[in-house]
Amino acid sequence: MPDPLGDDRLDEKEKMIREQLVARGIEDTRVLEAFREVPRHLFVREKDLPQAYEDHPIPIGEGQTTSQTYMVAAMLELLELEVNEKVLEIGTGSGYESALLSRLAREVYTIERLRTLYESAQDKLKKMGYVNIHFKWGDGSLGWSDKSPFQAIVIGAAAPQIPPVLMNQLDEGGRLVLPVGDRKEQILTRVTRGGDDFKIEKFMTCIFVPLIGEEGWKE
Ligand code: SAH
Repeated sequence: MPDPLGDDRLDEKEKMIREQLVARGIEDTRVLEAFREVPRHLFVREKDLPQAYEDHPIPIGEGQTTSQTYMVAAMLELLELEVNEKVLEIGTGSGYESALLSRLAREVYTIERLRTLYESAQDKLKKMGYVNIHFKWGDGSLGWSDKSPFQAIVIGAAAPQIPPVLMNQLDEGGRLVLPVGDRKEQILTRVTRGGDDFKIEKFMTCIFVPLIGEEGWKE
């Protein structure tokens, strides 16, 4: 099916990659290629189409947002995914980041707690032909133990602390990338597993919607 929005969107996507990602230091070529392959405008609501490639988070319904593309790219870069790896995503939201992850890893497992978002993202990604994404409805703050260990885990929502249960679902050498802080502001954090040792690195300040659940915030 031809893209109903035509070539203008392609230009907008390239411009977004150049000005919002490359210009700010995103240099992982596999990450940049994933952004080229996934049309962000197909993951926003129709009324938000004109802002699909703008430099800010975009509402996706249910009080949630799809993050600014730069923040998504920074997280994907920190995950350092290899083609043969298995990644767990917590907070499917619109499914945009799941689609990007599916270009970078072998299998993507994604969990969303809000039923409507879980259903619409699953429906959309299946129709678009993404076959290596597996969906679950529920509290992702507890991970997905029967599919673990994961070589990478990414949380698209703010956690009050690093959930130990998720550290335990990391494979040897596995990376967990998440925003940690209070409900107003967080720090993008990466945890890397080496046996029973967990290296913790802190990156930039960020603002995410809250992780709601057992290992997150109460409603
Ligand atoms: N990266 C997504 C946006 C994620 S927004 C995208 O590209 O669109 C964060 C999402 O996390 C929201 O949809 C929210 O409902 C979900 N969420 C919050 N707490 C959660 C939990 N405990 N388990 C699963 N999903 C959760």
